[in-house]
Amino acid sequence: MTFKELNISEPILRALTNKKYENPTPVQEKAIPPALEGHDLLGIAQTGTGKTAAFAIPIIQQLDEARAQERRHEIKALILTPTRELAIQIDESFRNYAKYTSLRHTVVFGGVNQRPQVDKLRHGIDILVATPGRLLDLINQGHISLSHIRHFVLDEADRMLDMGFIHDIKRLLPMLPKQKQTLFFSATMPAAIATLSQSILRNPVRIEIIPVSSAADMIKQHLYYVERQKKNQLLVSLLRQERNKSVLVFSRTKHGADKIARILKKNGIECEAIHGNKSQVARQRVLSNFKSKKTRVIVATDIAARGIDVVNLELVINYDLPDVAETYVHRIGRTGRAGQTGTALSFCSQDEHMMVRNIQRLTGRKLNPVLA
Ligand code: AMP
Repeated sequence: MTFKELNISEPILRALTNKKYENPTPVQEKAIPPALEGHDLLGIAQTGTGKTAAFAIPIIQQLDEARAQERRHEIKALILTPTRELAIQIDESFRNYAKYTSLRHTVVFGGVNQRPQVDKLRHGIDILVATPGRLLDLINQGHISLSHIRHFVLDEADRMLDMGFIHDIKRLLPMLPKQKQTLFFSATMPAAIATLSQSILRNPVRIEIIPVSSAADMIKQHLYYVERQKKNQLLVSLLRQERNKSVLVFSRTKHGADKIARILKKNGIECEAIHGNKSQVARQRVLSNFKSKKTRVIVATDIAARGIDVVNLELVINYDLPDVAETYVHRIGRTGRAGQTGTALSFCSQDEHMMVRNIQRLTGRKLNPVLA
């Protein structure tokens, strides 16, 4: 996927080329199209995923397109963020991405003299980045009006809550026009944040980005380049080496899962397959045997594996690589839980090289090849 394919306008594409961004990050790929259509968003993503551009680009593009019919610079987009460092960074992002438009932006935060901020506001501003306390102060003094806001971003909502800003936010919300687009971002979704999001979002598109790096840091990941016909042999030999570990083997298809399980049993390895064609009772039985360590190896499809929640899962083996890179992160996240280290081994045949590239791009790290 390229930025162009996301229908990003020419002035912003130029700015992205300046920044040498080659392609959109996953959060950008998911957030930009619905945001450009004017939908509300509920984004579960951390800093470092590229989420700033994911909300800044659609806002700039929508305001830039409307700008032709407008003369006045009044505040049409408000980005609320908990800390001054974040506020400065976000404003910097708007500076970069809006470089080839005539939109004006500025940032206000507490702990410094307000005079220069007020001077900037007087010049007329389209996009305002703010921390809650200073924003309220400036509103109360009549320097800022929120009555023309069309786009509202609540960034790092969970940190806002931790830092005690929730009352400030609740005071600000009624000052915003009813008719607007709201983009809500949080790294985590505790109950209080879920409730807040429900109270301010209208039919939001939900986007979730798994925190790749933190999960992957705890997990040793290795890659075996292996011919398709030799995968069974490799699996048997690896499972024989890891005699005492609880192992989850992933297969792309139900049929494949059954076949792998049959081969393992033939080779004297106790195992069971679990997938959507099995009854709920049968799946439950397999899972409880796995948890009690009666069954050491399970072969599962992605959907069936969702129900597997075993703390001491030491090893995940990707017999097949998944088509979608995020699925890889979900799979390996089964091991390395609760601060324990885990291992993920992946088999890659000739036709799966492309998937390795996608996974490496998503996780931002190389998988170590091991000679089989
Ligand atoms: P954020 O999660 O918004 O704090 O962004 C994290 C970092 O990723 C920032 O330094 C951005 O400049 C950078 N970034 C954002 N989008 C991209 C992209 N599409 N390609 C490369 N880097 C990016």
